[in-house]
Amino acid sequence: MKCFECQHDIEQIDNAHLAECCGLTLQEYAIRHHVSLDLLVNESMVNVVDDVSYYSLSAEMPSVRASSILSALLITDAFNRNNDFICLSSDIRRLDELLWYLRDLQVFGFQFRQEYSYTSTSHRVVPNNLIKTPKKYEHKFSELCNEVDFKLFLSVVIACSGELRNGYVFLSLTDTQEINALLRQLTNEYQIRWVQLEDIDQGKNLYRTESLQDAQRLLSLVEPCLQEIPCVSERFFAQVEKATVSKELVFDSAHFITDHPGKCENLHGGRYTLNVKIEDRIDPLTGFVIDYGYLKSIVKKRVIEKLDHQNLNFVCSDLGWRSSTELLNIFIWERLIDYLPGLIELQTFETTQSYCQYRGPSLEKMQTGSTDLSLKHFSKQGLGRSVLRQQLRLLEKANKLKVVKK
Ligand SMILES: [Zn+2]
Repeated sequence: MKCFECQHDIEQIDNAHLAECCGLTLQEYAIRHHVSLDLLVNESMVNVVDDVSYYSLSAEMPSVRASSILSALLITDAFNRNNDFICLSSDIRRLDELLWYLRDLQVFGFQFRQEYSYTSTSHRVVPNNLIKTPKKYEHKFSELCNEVDFKLFLSVVIACSGELRNGYVFLSLTDTQEINALLRQLTNEYQIRWVQLEDIDQGKNLYRTESLQDAQRLLSLVEPCLQEIPCVSERFFAQVEKATVSKELVFDSAHFITDHPGKCENLHGGRYTLNVKIEDRIDPLTGFVIDYGYLKSIVKKRVIEKLDHQNLNFVCSDLGWRSSTELLNIFIWERLIDYLPGLIELQTFETTQSYCQYRGPSLEKMQTGSTDLSLKHFSKQGLGRSVLRQQLRLLEKANKLKVVKK
């Protein structure tokens, strides 16, 4: 077959040829030249079991850089372990990032592989880019990793577990003593504060820089190191296009409108449709503003689980008075904004013909205290302590509040 890069006729285009001819991997070659990978790989390249005897541990001691990178990948739980190997996989768009780690990690026996698999459900050859080393070396990692460069270590933690959402840095990490110690150190030594949010990805904790200023302090601390890691700098620093994405979810709820002179005073129910709109930068490494699946998990966990098959009058004290779509939107906004600082609009349809659109305050505005009062009336601590309420006490004493019996 003809190689579209060097125009030579060769028997089999593979990574060995491409490394010589253009430096691309087979997957990148397939993408660039619009060729299905299934046509490029032959049977002997698919579902190959890698052999640990191809790998060896270096005799030299790892550098501080190598120790810092490996320690960060370990603390973020970035590796997956299968059969005889410990592996770090990556999207093809982040290949250079993977190779950047590899440069220092070779000392621990790591090698790059592009593996191809075919499963009964994939219906196509699926490539997987990874750096891997035999599992049997893992017990040596801790004795080999001595000194760590804190800023490099932190940068790799952010590269692997971090996301920038509307100026806030989010970290998705497994809750361990080391992670807690790291976050405490950032707060105590660098004044970078964190809030821990409800777990969305099962098994991982979600942490967010408390404010935009905390995120800026964090990013300026790690910027020189992050700029050094290919692909990662784009995710955090590049000027990229913005877009708005929207997810629609439904929930079934009942409600009644208190003190309302119409038939909505009666308990009734229906199917609500909720549209959540997020505007943010398009992450150049994922191609997403936010993954729709992830957006759905957040809205499900924070809103749908709270409202679905419930009586809206009893899910929140302030909806007890008026569970209108307007106040419901404010309630939903407040449940989501901590997780989705790019939230720009909510639409709640009570019927197909009636809906309310709401654009609430930004997270920053909510943090600086200018919160909306429309939902806070019945949950306010001071309710019942106004001067006028003293009249009720006096009336009660004078026996004038008694229910009149017919
Ligand atoms: Zn070629």
